[in-house]
Amino acid sequence: MTQTAASPAARRDTLLKFAARHSPRYTSYPTAPHFHAGVTGETVSGWLAGLPEDRPVSLYLHIPYCHTLCWYCGCNTTATQKRSPIAAYVEPLLVEIDRIADRLPARMSVSHLAFGGGTPTILSADDLDRIMERLRARFEIRQDAELSIEIDPRHFDVDLARALSRHGFTRASTGIQTFDLKVQKAINRVQSLDVTALAFDRLRENGITEINADVLYGLPHQSVAASEDTALGVVSLEPSRLAVFGYAHVPHMKAHQKLIPDASLPGPAERLAQADRMDEVFRAAGYERIGIDHYARPGDAMAAADRAGTLKRNFQGYTTDTAQTLIGIGASSISRTPFGYMQNKVSVREWMAALASGELPVARGVEITSEDAFRGAIIEALMTRLEADLPAIAKAHGRAVPQADLAELEAAGVVRREGGLVRVDPAYRPLARLAAAAFDRHFASGTAKHSVSV
Ligand code: SF4
Repeated sequence: MTQTAASPAARRDTLLKFAARHSPRYTSYPTAPHFHAGVTGETVSGWLAGLPEDRPVSLYLHIPYCHTLCWYCGCNTTATQKRSPIAAYVEPLLVEIDRIADRLPARMSVSHLAFGGGTPTILSADDLDRIMERLRARFEIRQDAELSIEIDPRHFDVDLARALSRHGFTRASTGIQTFDLKVQKAINRVQSLDVTALAFDRLRENGITEINADVLYGLPHQSVAASEDTALGVVSLEPSRLAVFGYAHVPHMKAHQKLIPDASLPGPAERLAQADRMDEVFRAAGYERIGIDHYARPGDAMAAADRAGTLKRNFQGYTTDTAQTLIGIGASSISRTPFGYMQNKVSVREWMAALASGELPVARGVEITSEDAFRGAIIEALMTRLEADLPAIAKAHGRAVPQADLAELEAAGVVRREGGLVRVDPAYRPLARLAAAAFDRHFASGTAKHSVSV
């Protein structure tokens, strides 16, 4: 995190000054708190029917089950030791695939297909075969499509690895978070380096060679030394990408996080020191910094997209996927179309009931107005490239350059304006969220609906 004129101490003070401010992560614009119940299954049917036939779409399938619950988890998932809930989930998932395909204007081609959760590798090889068979029957999955899946290294059997290989998966995202045993016990996720390495080997033996690792700082009892050890352990596995997030402690929204005592959590200065130490280890190992919280090896597609200025942001974070439409399938999944965003019913029971009654299982959503599309383009530019060329974006959208209050960030050296160009200093990249929020016409500062900025 260098490249600033500020001294290390001044940089730290500036980051700490803004660290506690809440801001959206901008995986969509408008953001999820602005979704409303006025967007219904009928609305979404119209959106799907109106998609251009000749443009590829991306698909995301959500599997909301895990073997055990990690106490830091912010995902929509339920822990189960039984096979029956997973078996009962697959059939309605196939119904939803059919229902969506029936509403599309054609048999659409698919450029990206991602399984997330929860733990999608809780599916059996037979479950995966059935889902892939139905997807291929209803969609044209392109030869060059990127197929990816999130895996829990603690539960990744060889049958499923072979099934993924058979179906053409080449990319996986692995949950690691920390290798420190004390921290692991405090988050109810004990996972050794050996177990993780075995999962990496199993992926690579089956042709899944593009592997992302998720890592956290700011966990209970986590220290700078533990963060450094984790980073070194992660580097030894040689993943192609890394996602490094600060733990977001929101027990008022995620009740199981109450199992993590507030007193066990590191403070803002300690969190920042952990992030900085991991940053040093990852950059020394040759990873390039991407956006606010990712890293990639120079040869990885995400690093190439970053250099080419084509990096995008969606509900999974940073992506090389340039499809305008991402269709979410499964309970709680979120879709994006050029017309708006929508989220499925979060409760599996309600999602199943909606499908059984012949509807699309939509809970809520939001239309994207032309003003939102314009502001969303500025926000995406700041979140991906750390800079936005306001006159160029305004011209492309046929609008005037918007006013934005960046005075405090400018005075602190976080943001610089050069003509119409707004630039976030890379040394302050986590604060790109605050620069983006200045262009968000829906954002109410101080809201606790979002996580802290560092
Ligand atoms: S495995 Fe992942 S999705 Fe499941 S509880 Fe743990 S963090 Fe959440």
